[in-house]
Amino acid sequence: MKNLIKQKVAVLGSGLTGKAIAMALLDLNIDVDLIEQTSPPKNFKSNVTLSISDASLKILQSLGMKKNKFNSWPLQKIILFDGLTKEAKPDTEFYNIDNKKFLSHIVKRNVLEKEISNKLKKVKFIKKKILSIEGKGFLKKIIFQNKKTSEYNLIIATQFSNLKLLSNEKKLNWDYSETAYTFVIHHKKLTNNCARQFFLKDGPLAFLPISNTHTSIVWSVKNKSDAEKIVLNYEARLNFLKMISVGFYEVIGCTNKLEKFDLTFAFLRRTVLSRVIFMGDITHKIHPIAGQGWNMTLRDINILVSILKEKLNKGYDIGDLGILKEYEKKTKASNLLFAMSIDLIRKAFRSQSPAISKLRKKSFSIASQPTVMNKIIDLADKGLRF
Ligand SMILES: Cc1cc2nc3c(=O)[nH]c(=O)nc-3n(C[C@H](O)[C@H](O)[C@H](O)COP(=O)(O)OP(=O)(O)OC[C@H]3O[C@@H](n4cnc5c(N)ncnc54)[C@H](O)[C@@H]3O)c2cc1C
Repeated sequence: MKNLIKQKVAVLGSGLTGKAIAMALLDLNIDVDLIEQTSPPKNFKSNVTLSISDASLKILQSLGMKKNKFNSWPLQKIILFDGLTKEAKPDTEFYNIDNKKFLSHIVKRNVLEKEISNKLKKVKFIKKKILSIEGKGFLKKIIFQNKKTSEYNLIIATQFSNLKLLSNEKKLNWDYSETAYTFVIHHKKLTNNCARQFFLKDGPLAFLPISNTHTSIVWSVKNKSDAEKIVLNYEARLNFLKMISVGFYEVIGCTNKLEKFDLTFAFLRRTVLSRVIFMGDITHKIHPIAGQGWNMTLRDINILVSILKEKLNKGYDIGDLGILKEYEKKTKASNLLFAMSIDLIRKAFRSQSPAISKLRKKSFSIASQPTVMNKIIDLADKGLRF
């Protein structure tokens, strides 16, 4: 980059999105302050995994991540089961017909986050509560609770608590009254490159391989349902998993500790304001049924980076509203359609109506046709852009 005066950006929130966008901005020779207002729990070793599509993995690599550093586990096949099929007879299977590409990669979230953190040596990490944010001519001024202030060309907000500070814009949001529980199972060694998802009455149960002996489980259940009772009881959980995985795993045990996530849908109507961009789950929080949430964010980051690469070379101010609007134009409508489609898929799989169930079977058979399968794989890989 040629610009002589370094522009300064404040990234609010040091979750995955905050860290990834900070890494991308550093690469564009921008000064970045990463501001965190909450304290992460101490000594907490998370087992949470993310499915990162092949195209998203390439985005991460283009942002400077070395693939071997965060040990992603490749997936060759995804098998879907409509309901509890004891004999493990799949309803449909997804795989790349030419076999040259992996469908997706399972990564441990904390390993990925640590590797991104290692790339942030030049980022100033500020752990302070923010009192208010004000416009100040060509800059935004952050006033911290200790009355100190800092000025920035642009603010990128990734924390839900930032919304109130910057906007009183209404979100499109609803509560699924569901909770996702995640943990890891240990099983007999096998070649483990196939993910499986069962669409059960009370919510989807996904098996996401992380090694030849361990598989991460994401089990979303209706609150207070029978399935939730099973998840919450160690013995019942283990027995259920042993029963449902007959035919593909010989389960030895599962982690005692569960991590839980309340599931909600949220979509922000305006993702840019004067010298402000909202990014990450704060703008589009979706159900984990298709493992697409952070893939959407990586695609957003990629779009922002490509716009900035072009504009900053021409000497633009990074907070220029024209740049921000161009980003919003290229992301918002396709993200809304994508997020609503995931919501629709969730609804279709939750419905117990015989008509919907028949339609599901029909859709599975259509999805198995090679041309349709290729289109679905491409959509899950690269998202929707128009
Ligand atoms: C069960 C489940 C499974 C998922 N599976 C996938 C998947 O397979 N593929 C995919 O692409 N997406 C998946 N997602 C979505 C993905 O996890 C989110 O999109 C992503 O984590 C959002 O990151 P974020 O930084 O925008 O928000 P957050 O992670 O919510 O971070 C925002 C802010 O929250 C706070 N915060 C977050 N974590 C901590 C912490 N540990 N301690 C303290 N503060 C914290 C920080 O203040 C942070 O700045 C899944 C989500 C769930 C709930």
